[in-house]
Amino acid sequence: MAILEKQKYEALTEETAVQLVKELNIIPESAQVTCQEIGDGNLNYVFKIRDEETGKGVIVKQALPYAKVVGESWPLTLKRATIEANALKKHGEFVPNLVPKVYATDENLAITIMEDLSHLTIARTGLINGEAYPKLSGDIGEYLARTLFSTSDLALHPFEKKALAVEFSNPELCKITEDLIFTDPFFDHDTNDFEPELRGAVEGLWENNQLRLEAAKLKKSFVTEAEALLHGDLHSGSIFASETETKVIDPEFAFYGPIGFDIGLFLGNLVFQVIVREGEKKTIVLDHIENTWNVFSSVLSQLWEKESVEPFAKVPGYKEAYFQKIFSDTLGFAGCELIRRTIGLSHVKDLDGIEDSEQRISAKKTALATGTALILKRNEMTAIEEVITFLKEN
Ligand code: ADP
Ligand code: MG
Ligand code: MG
Ligand code: MG
Repeated sequence: MAILEKQKYEALTEETAVQLVKELNIIPESAQVTCQEIGDGNLNYVFKIRDEETGKGVIVKQALPYAKVVGESWPLTLKRATIEANALKKHGEFVPNLVPKVYATDENLAITIMEDLSHLTIARTGLINGEAYPKLSGDIGEYLARTLFSTSDLALHPFEKKALAVEFSNPELCKITEDLIFTDPFFDHDTNDFEPELRGAVEGLWENNQLRLEAAKLKKSFVTEAEALLHGDLHSGSIFASETETKVIDPEFAFYGPIGFDIGLFLGNLVFQVIVREGEKKTIVLDHIENTWNVFSSVLSQLWEKESVEPFAKVPGYKEAYFQKIFSDTLGFAGCELIRRTIGLSHVKDLDGIEDSEQRISAKKTALATGTALILKRNEMTAIEEVITFLKEN
């Protein structure tokens, strides 16, 4: 059975996944392999296939035509697999060392076959276990600057940029972000999910009109500002890390949006670790936050000076204004991420994993207060050091 000749989608099994990588000669026909489905099972299958003789591993990720959320089943476009595969390849042109190698893709089957990164750990898991990941912020700062600059109007001919914006129009996945990050947490919506002890704090958010006004402005930026090809879901669960390596996976939410969104999601997820850690381990995460911004802005600044095709790039003051807009967006989006991961549909283990209920509720209240402050103060703050000082005091 030639799987790739099938014109119609069918969900793979461990057997057909193996057949597929053998037909494609990614693993030799004669190899003895093991295959395991290792995904977390809400949206996609992730098959890990290993050649027992050579130890070579291959990952087959397949989109499922639905998402299982709160016991219900939502239909969800298979096109996201093509978006993910093409975003991995596009970003890989600029940061080949920071994304997995893509061996093959198939649009009908909604699959990406890629490098096995099992020698690394998902950064969220490692960070919760107290890892320092010395390369994390430098690598992500570099990833952000290079992928975002290179796909923006600063680097591309306007025809090329607009063709990419069309290719990566990703309305269904964007709708998930628009609802779950920007809208639902700021209303008494049934997707929200929080412990009764948080009700007072949450009602405080819903009654805070200043906050909701700023959230509305951030949502408008997200839906209207097609600046660069975003990853779209750059939380610490989309990053593999070790002492020496960093790899970004899972860009199925990729689309053309505001540059600060990817940075804000990443920094927001680091803030959870600032909230839950103590002492020297907290300092390490604060340093990562500062360094992410510093590496991002210095690499972007160099690219701007050397490679920008934008005639206005040399106009005095323009670069500063451009960076200030990214900075304030970053803080606002980080704030939205802090709030939605605390009271919205999709939580983080950094907080939910705290066993002691008093400590957990207290950490969640801090996350809500910090998120609120970042959203409200984002235009007053002008330097990352101010953010670090603020985070240390809270
Ligand atoms: P989803 O979109 O369903 O969240 P991910 O791409 O985040 O899927 O993958 C889910 C999990 O599968 C990851 O957390 C990781 O454990 C595993 N995984 C995904 N890609 C790879 C890879 N290239 N190498 C090793 N494991 C992977
Ligand atoms: Mg997942
Ligand atoms: Mg994921
Ligand atoms: Mg995903």
